[in-house]
Amino acid sequence: MAHQDDTAAIAELEEVFALQRAAFLKNQYPSIEERKSNVGKIPGMLIANRDAIRDALNKDFGNHPESTSDLVECLGVAGRAAYVLSQLDKWLATEYRDVDGQMYGESKAEVRYQPKGVVGNIVPWNFPFDLSVGPLCEMLAAGNRVVIKPSEFTPTTGALLAKMISDTFPRDLVAVVNGGLDLSRRFSQIKWNHLLYTGAPSVGKIVMGEAAKNLTPVTLELGGKCPCILTPGAVTPENVHTIIGTKLLKNGQMCISVDYILVPRADLDTFVNLTKNLFAEGAPLSGYTNSLDNTGIISSRHVERLVGLVTEAESAGVQSIALGGDPSPTDNIKRQLPLTLLIDPPRHLKAMTDEIFGPVLPILPYDSLDTSIDEINAGERPLGLYVFSPDVNAANAIINNTNSGGAAINCVALQGALPSLPFGGSGMSGMGRHHGVEGFREFTFLAPYSELANGVAEAAFQHATGVPGTV
Ligand code: NAD
Repeated sequence: MAHQDDTAAIAELEEVFALQRAAFLKNQYPSIEERKSNVGKIPGMLIANRDAIRDALNKDFGNHPESTSDLVECLGVAGRAAYVLSQLDKWLATEYRDVDGQMYGESKAEVRYQPKGVVGNIVPWNFPFDLSVGPLCEMLAAGNRVVIKPSEFTPTTGALLAKMISDTFPRDLVAVVNGGLDLSRRFSQIKWNHLLYTGAPSVGKIVMGEAAKNLTPVTLELGGKCPCILTPGAVTPENVHTIIGTKLLKNGQMCISVDYILVPRADLDTFVNLTKNLFAEGAPLSGYTNSLDNTGIISSRHVERLVGLVTEAESAGVQSIALGGDPSPTDNIKRQLPLTLLIDPPRHLKAMTDEIFGPVLPILPYDSLDTSIDEINAGERPLGLYVFSPDVNAANAIINNTNSGGAAINCVALQGALPSLPFGGSGMSGMGRHHGVEGFREFTFLAPYSELANGVAEAAFQHATGVPGTV
């Protein structure tokens, strides 16, 4: 990617941060009505721009299925805003805490939900609306002001988002700044009251290092290799359909996609054949590679990386199976790739050491489930972990013996789709949470507040010193 001159973008960032900071200092505790009114603008903004969102995603990705644009990037986020609105009275209700009456009489202790202030959000390319406007729901509910920085890989959606936001919100409340890598670097150095970063763990470390210089609290939404384990009896047509169907969402460019599959050795061929059948059966998967259902890979550089994972494995003698039609190199406009299964690749290959984040799927046969669980536990904690099993107790036992950002049984990614559940990583897949009440609290300063009852100070003084008098 060519180096971009970010001088003007950095000046804009600094100016809008100062503007929001000044506005925040004048209104540090927005009322619930104000917060609801702000969040309430989000669904209408998204729905009014539904066609433009589809077009912009198509442009940035080369091809982007309409159903994914609608469901994930538009209606899903609108639903998240609606959920926040339905909960806000409850989330903001004053929470009274216990007070020792003997010591403090009728004194009050409560938790107040103060906004953090001005919050920054660094967004990756893979879900340009879901990961910008999605967290905005909880950030605004918490009473903050927000500056969003889209990815340099999504210039069209970045420009659309800037327009949507400036048409909907005053700049001193929500703003978008677009630019290149120099802007990204400067963004993490700003003295935010909170910084959300979503992207690769390697960059997450840099962002956290920069934020640490200001003691800015961070939420890091990172990635990792999400395993999917099938226990004996789980290799069924329905389960294979579910697993492959979610892998094809965004053609694998999703942080909670299945990264690799563990199947009982005796079921390996069945799993592969069921997958082949899915693609052979006819529409929509028979011509998948060149179809409108296949999301383009975000850039030629990312295509090269994914093709490199497959060629490295093939050179090492690994069997690869390309599915979905023509596996020949994609054109540079749509950048569409087939789904490629890699059968039992050795663990030192890049397909097994790096997060795949695309349509490549290693299938690993196992002899002992315990050994496979030990292998998962020996690696970095994944963002998501999936277990398919006819026995829910067995599935729960696996989940209880592993650690991941979130998990799901007999489905994939549902834990990330429900607005009521907290979402985030563990260890190298991230820290902190957005979505749901946990997201609201993540972007809120939980302020302890106490009010001393009349006469208590005097009584407490006498109690402590034994000396009658006033304080
Ligand atoms: P990306 O290249 O778009 O980078 C993400 C953001 O980081 C961009 O806005 C970019 O400008 C910024 N950035 C890059 N270098 C920077 C620097 N030195 N300082 C500050 N900011 C910088 O996206 P990516 O990193 O390729 O995203 C893919 C990764 O994101 C995968 O690991 C995926 O699993 C993860 N991801 C996680 C989640 C989640 O919610 N946990 C969601 C989506 C993606």
